[in-house]
Amino acid sequence: MRRFSALLSPTRKARSPLDSDHPLLSLIDACKSTAQIKQAQAHLIVTGLFLHSFPASKLMVRLLALPITSALPYAQQLFDQIPSPNLFLYNTLIKAHAPTSHSSHVSFLLFRSMLRSAGLCPNRYTLVFVFHSCCYGLGVSEGEQVRCHAVKRGFETSVFVANVLIRMYGNHGFIDDARRVFDLSLERDSFSWNSMVSGYIGVGDLERAEKLFDEMPERDVVSWSTMIAGYVQVMETFCQMQLVGEMPNEFTLVSVLAACANLVALEQGRWIHVYIEKARIKMNEQLLSGLIDMYAKCGEIALAFKVFRDKNNLRRIVWPWNAMISGFAMHGQSKEAINLFEEMKIANVLPDKITFVALLNACSHGRLVDAGWLYFKSMSSVYGIVPGLEHYGCMVDLLGRAGLLNKAEDIVHSMPMPPDMVIWGALLGACRIHRDVERGERIGKYIRDLEPSHMGCHVLLANMYSQSGRFDDAKVIRERIETSSTKKTPGCSSIELNGMFHQFLVGDRTHPQTKQIYSFLDEMTIKLKNAGYVPETKEVLLDLDEEDKETALSRHSERLAIAFGLINTAPGTPIRIVKNLRVCWDCHQVTKFISKVYGREIIVRDHMRFHHFKDGCCSCNDFW
Ligand code: ZN
Ligand code: ZN
Repeated sequence: MRRFSALLSPTRKARSPLDSDHPLLSLIDACKSTAQIKQAQAHLIVTGLFLHSFPASKLMVRLLALPITSALPYAQQLFDQIPSPNLFLYNTLIKAHAPTSHSSHVSFLLFRSMLRSAGLCPNRYTLVFVFHSCCYGLGVSEGEQVRCHAVKRGFETSVFVANVLIRMYGNHGFIDDARRVFDLSLERDSFSWNSMVSGYIGVGDLERAEKLFDEMPERDVVSWSTMIAGYVQVMETFCQMQLVGEMPNEFTLVSVLAACANLVALEQGRWIHVYIEKARIKMNEQLLSGLIDMYAKCGEIALAFKVFRDKNNLRRIVWPWNAMISGFAMHGQSKEAINLFEEMKIANVLPDKITFVALLNACSHGRLVDAGWLYFKSMSSVYGIVPGLEHYGCMVDLLGRAGLLNKAEDIVHSMPMPPDMVIWGALLGACRIHRDVERGERIGKYIRDLEPSHMGCHVLLANMYSQSGRFDDAKVIRERIETSSTKKTPGCSSIELNGMFHQFLVGDRTHPQTKQIYSFLDEMTIKLKNAGYVPETKEVLLDLDEEDKETALSRHSERLAIAFGLINTAPGTPIRIVKNLRVCWDCHQVTKFISKVYGREIIVRDHMRFHHFKDGCCSCNDFW
C-alpha cells in the first residue's frame, strides 16, 4: 500500500471529498486489513473528510467487505462517530446486521433510529434489508411493522420486497400469509417461486410444494435442489420415527413413497414396501397408488404392474389406474396404457382429468394420432370432462411429434384459453424435431414478445438454427441469452448411492471425486468411439471448433452422474439418474453405447419421461 502522507502534500491540487477519483478514496479500496482501515480513518479525520458521508461510507463498505469477524462491531463504532449518517450509511449497516441471527435485532433498532432521530425516509433497499433481518433473528410481528412502511410508500408490490416477505413468512411457518403475498405480487421471478416452494417444504407440506414446483414457468437449479432437499427431509424424518419406535401412519408412508419416487431411490422404496407388508399396515387405494408410482418412477414398470395386479380388491376407484396408466405412458408403453384404459372402462371405473393426461401422453409417445384424437374428443362427449390446458398441451405435443405441425398450430390458435409457455414450447420443440425452421422462427418471435425472459424457448430456437446451419442467427440469439439477466437453466442430474444423493451440474468440478470422474470420462469416450460412437455436435450452441464442441457435450450433467455411478457401483448394477432438462441427442447416443460397452442398464428420467437403456437400445426408440 502506498503511504497516505505522500498524497497529502500541499503541492497536490485540492480536491472535493465527493470527487470519486480522490486519491484517498482509491486507497480505501485497496485496504486489506483492519490496521490499514484504521490508518485510512486517521487520515480521513485529519483531513476533515470523515465528516462527509461519501468518504465515510466508502470506508465502511470496505471494512465490511473484509473477511474478518471483528468487521461488524468496528463498523458499528465507525457509524456511531459519524455526525449525521445518510441513508446509504444506514442501509449499509442495516444490511450488515440483518443476516446474523445474534445481531439482527440491531438492524431493526437502526431502522427505528433512522426514522425517529435522523428523520430519513427509508427506500426500497432499506425495507428489503430490514425484512431480511426478520427472516432470521427477528419475527413476523417486527416484520409486519416494517410492512406498514412498505405499504405506505408503495413498495409492497416491488418484486424484491414481495420476495423477502414471502421468505419471511415462510421461514416462520406462516405459510398462508406467504402464499397471500405470492398470489398478490404483480411480478414474480425464480426467487419468488423458490421461496414459496421452500416455505412449503419447511412446514412439511410436500404436496403443495410439488404442485407449485410443477406449475413453475422455469425451474432453475435452486428449485431443483429445494425439491430434492424436501424429499430427503421426508426420508430423514421417517428414519427418525423408526429410531424412536414411532409407528408411521399411511399419510407418512405416502409422502415417503413420493420422496423415493422423485429421488429415484429404489432400494428405500422397496424397503418401504416390505415394511408395509411386515407391519401389516392396511393397504388402501392411496398407498397402492404411491407404490405403483414409486416403482414406475424408479424405472421398474414390471414391478409396478405386478403390485397393481396383486391388489384386485383395490381397483374400484380411479387412483391406482391413473398411477398405472401414467407409469406406462412415462415408459413409452403406449399400447399397454391404452389396454389398461379399456380394461378400466369394462370395470366401470370412471376416468378423471388425470387419466386423460396420462392417456394422451401415452398416445403422444407412441405416435398414435388417431387414438389420441378419439380419446380427446371422448372427454367431453362421453365423460363430460372439459379439456384443460394440460390436455390441449398433450394434443399439441402429440400432433407436433407426429409431424402434423399445421394441425398442432391450429389447436393452439383455437384453444378456449390462452396458451401457456409449455404449449408454445411443445410446438417449438416439434418444429425443431421436424426441422421446420420457418415456422419455428415465427413461433419463436411470438414467444419472445410474450415472455422475453423465457430462456428455454430461446435455447430451443438457437439449437434449431445451428442444426440447420444458420450459425449467424444462432449466434445472435446466443448473445441475447448471455446478456440477459435471467440465465439459461443449467442441466443438473442426480444419482443416489448408499442413501446419499449426489448432484452434478453441467461441467461441475465441485464433487470430491471430480478428478476420477473426468479421467474416467476421457477413457470412456475412447472406448465408445472404438465401439462406433460418433459425437453429434449440431445441437451445441457455442460456436466452438469441433473438438471443443465434443468436450462441451462430454461434460453434460448426466454423463458426470453416469460416470460417478459406473465408478462407484459393482459391475452389472443398474444406474438410475434424474435430470431436470430434456436429454440431448448426443447424450442419448452415448448412453446407448455405455449400456452396451459396460453391460449396464441405465435408467434416465428427464423432465418429460423415461429412457431405459439396455444392450445399446433405449425404450423410447429414439423418439422423445
Ligand atoms: Zn447432453
Ligand atoms: Zn430414450
